[in-house]
Amino acid sequence: MVKETVQNALRNVKYPGFSRDIISFGLVREVNCDNDGNVSVNVALTSSDPQVPTALRLDIEKTLRDLEGVTNVTVNIELSVPKNRPSETNQSGGARPETLEKVRFTIAVASGKGGVGKSTFAVNLACAFERILSKQNKRDAVGLMDCDIYGPSTPLMIGINSRPEIEENLIVPLKNFGVRAMSMGFLIDEDSPVVWRGPMIMKTIQQFAGNVKWGELEILVIDLPPGTGDAQLSLVQTIPLDGVVIVTTPQEAAIGVARRGARMFTKVNVPILGVAENMSYLQDKQGARQYIFGQGGGQQVASDLEVELLGQVPLDLQIRIGSDQGIPIVISDPDCEAAKVFFSIAERIFEKLENNTNL
Ligand code: ADP
Repeated sequence: MVKETVQNALRNVKYPGFSRDIISFGLVREVNCDNDGNVSVNVALTSSDPQVPTALRLDIEKTLRDLEGVTNVTVNIELSVPKNRPSETNQSGGARPETLEKVRFTIAVASGKGGVGKSTFAVNLACAFERILSKQNKRDAVGLMDCDIYGPSTPLMIGINSRPEIEENLIVPLKNFGVRAMSMGFLIDEDSPVVWRGPMIMKTIQQFAGNVKWGELEILVIDLPPGTGDAQLSLVQTIPLDGVVIVTTPQEAAIGVARRGARMFTKVNVPILGVAENMSYLQDKQGARQYIFGQGGGQQVASDLEVELLGQVPLDLQIRIGSDQGIPIVISDPDCEAAKVFFSIAERIFEKLENNTNL
C-alpha cells in the first residue's frame, strides 16, 4: 500500500455539507501505511458541531476500507472545540491567530452572487464604523480585510494604491480614512492575470489573518469572495467570526443564491447579523422611486433566514463614482440618503455585537 494511493482516495472525502475535500482544505496532517495493509490518518479540525468529526471519521473509514490491500484503518481526529472565552474564540469557535488577539469583533460581509455591491458594503461599513468610533474617541480602531482574491476591489474603493511595508516579519496594513486595510490588490499588479484556485483562498485568508499586523481593533470587517461556501468554511477554520452580513439585491436571480450562501454560515455556527439590500430603488429629484431590480427580495431572504433586514441602500450614481474615485460615500456625502442607511446599518451591527442579541 502506498501513501499516495491513500491520499488520492482521501480527495474523495468531502467536509460534511461542503463540496471541498479534506485534502485541499489542509485538514489531513499525516498519513501512514505499512505492508500489511494498516493505514492511519491524522486529521486536525476546528468545529463546535460534534456531528462533523463523527461524519468525517465514518466517511474516511469507508473510503479507505474500499481500497484494495487495506486491512485496517485508524482515524485520529484532533478536534479544537470552542472554549467560549471571547478573547480566544467567538461564536463560530476556533482559536484566534495571535495577530488578531486584540481584535474585539470580527464580522464578514458575504453575498451569494458577484456584482451585488458586497465590496461597496464592506468599504462603506468599515468607514462608517470608523466615524462612529471616532466620535467615541476610539481612533485607529477599524480594520478591513479584503479576501475577494478573484477581484480585489478594496484598493480602488478606499483610495489606496501603495504597497504595504513589512515590520517584524508582519505585513503592515495600509491606512486611509482611518481604516487599516489589507488586500491582495496591494500585493499583485493590477494587470497581471490572476488564476487563483480554491486552495489559494485558504492560504490568503490564513496569511491575512496570521501575517498581518492588525494591532488593536474594535472591529475587523472581512470582504469575502462571492461564494459557494468553500471560502466561508476556510475562513471560519482560520478566524472565528462574530457574525456575517448577507448582501443581496432585490432581484430574483440574486436572492436564491444569497439564501444558499447564508445557509453555509449557519452550518458552521456563524451567526447571521442580518440581510442588507443594495440597489433597492432609484429615486428621482421629485422623490418618485423606481424599483429597477424588483421589490421585496431583501426582506424575503431575511424572513427565510429568520433574521432582520438591516437596511435598503438605493442605487445612487454617487456611490459608483465614489467607488471609482476611492472616496466611499459615507465619507464624501455622509448626509445623503445612501450614507444614512450605511450608518444606520453600522450602528445596528454594533448594537447586536455589543448586546449579543439574536446571535
Ligand atoms: P461585489 O463586491 O458584490 O462584486 P461591488 O461592490 O464591486 O460588488 O459593486 C459592483 C459595482 O456596482 C461597483 O462599480 C459599485 O460602485 C457599484 N455599486 C454598488 N452598489 C451601488 C449602488 N447602491 N448604487 C450605485 N452603484 C453601486
